Amino acid sequence: MRIAIVGAGLAGLSAARVLSDAGLEPVVFDKARGPGGRIVSKRTPYAGVDLGTQYFTARDGEFRAAVDDWREAGVLASWPVTPRVLPEGQPARAQARLVAVPRMSALARHMAEGLDVRCGVQVREITREASAWSIQDRHGDSLGTFDGVLLTAPAPQAQSLLAEPSPRLAARAVEAPMKPCWAAGLVLDEPLNLAFDAGFPSSGPLGWVARLGARPQRPQTPEIWTLHATDAWSEANIEWSEDAVGEYLTQAFAELTRRRPSVSDRFVHRWRFARSRRALAEPAGYLEHDQLLCAGDWVVDGRVEGAWRSGRAAARRLISLAAGRADPDAE
Ligand SMILES: Cc1cc2nc3c(=O)[nH]c(=O)nc-3n(C[C@H](O)[C@H](O)[C@H](O)COP(=O)(O)OP(=O)(O)OC[C@H]3O[C@@H](n4cnc5c(N)ncnc54)[C@H](O)[C@@H]3O)c2cc1C
Repeated sequence: MRIAIVGAGLAGLSAARVLSDAGLEPVVFDKARGPGGRIVSKRTPYAGVDLGTQYFTARDGEFRAAVDDWREAGVLASWPVTPRVLPEGQPARAQARLVAVPRMSALARHMAEGLDVRCGVQVREITREASAWSIQDRHGDSLGTFDGVLLTAPAPQAQSLLAEPSPRLAARAVEAPMKPCWAAGLVLDEPLNLAFDAGFPSSGPLGWVARLGARPQRPQTPEIWTLHATDAWSEANIEWSEDAVGEYLTQAFAELTRRRPSVSDRFVHRWRFARSRRALAEPAGYLEHDQLLCAGDWVVDGRVEGAWRSGRAAARRLISLAAGRADPDAE
């Protein structure tokens, strides 16, 4: 059974691994330059700057076992940080926080090893042709025909790809709206020597600030801070230019810390679809229409762990469909 996976984030890569372990050979397409999706690091001359997911947690037993494997492989570590509620400084909720090392994208690179992952390929159309699914890229060129397709794009992007082949699944994607997030990385000339390494500002445009060097295996110099704007501020100002957002968030950081950071370089990223506002909590972990499946954080619980679980659940379903095809008389 030929299977295409659209998206090389945690959901797509976890699905590809399960399929590949079962002897199937999925092809994974991703429009970005590298795998990882929202678990990504910006390549800079100083370090990989984590502008997306900052850390994640592991609750479910199966996911914890995967976390242990990743630790053993040297791509994951605990981040023993106590973020502060700012500016007051009380400790935020205690949690076991996990980060990929030496940068967030290392986890995706590790998961993609040995898989057929084709980056820089944007899928624009999925159409039914007789008993197969045909996939076209953004130039209208064919990427092949497949017996099964697993779509793991964020809900709004999945929705536009699903509109033609499955209005029913497209409608489910509409039920899972997502929130944007403006992110910035500030490279400083001088360390600020603040009393905290990470924090959740309780008011103003910033929702999260963290010092890169406080994370395991990151360089200490130059001092780099990651800033995330709040959902509300990001949503209200989503069409601002990167420069304007960079300036505004730097100013907000200066006010929050009561310092005058001397910024030597700055990186800004607009996440139009950062996190789920309301994930579907789909009991199966995936959505399905005629061997076209959907998985991702928005199908389950809006978190890294949910994305991973969702991808695996969809892969198992595809494996059972493949078994049915191999032996059409099987129960
Ligand atoms: C700023 C930020 C902070 C976050 N904080 C946390 C946190 O603290 N804890 C937590 O658990 N989670 C957090 N998350 C959410 C977490 O990153 C996601 O839940 C998880 O990474 C989703 O994985 P996914 O595989 O479902 O989707 P993605 O990682 O979005 O992967 C989907 C992939 O599909 C690709 N794609 C989309 N459309 C196409 C197309 N047409 N053709 C080809 N490829 C396509 C994209 O390029 C992308 O790589 C955060 C996310 C952001 C952005």
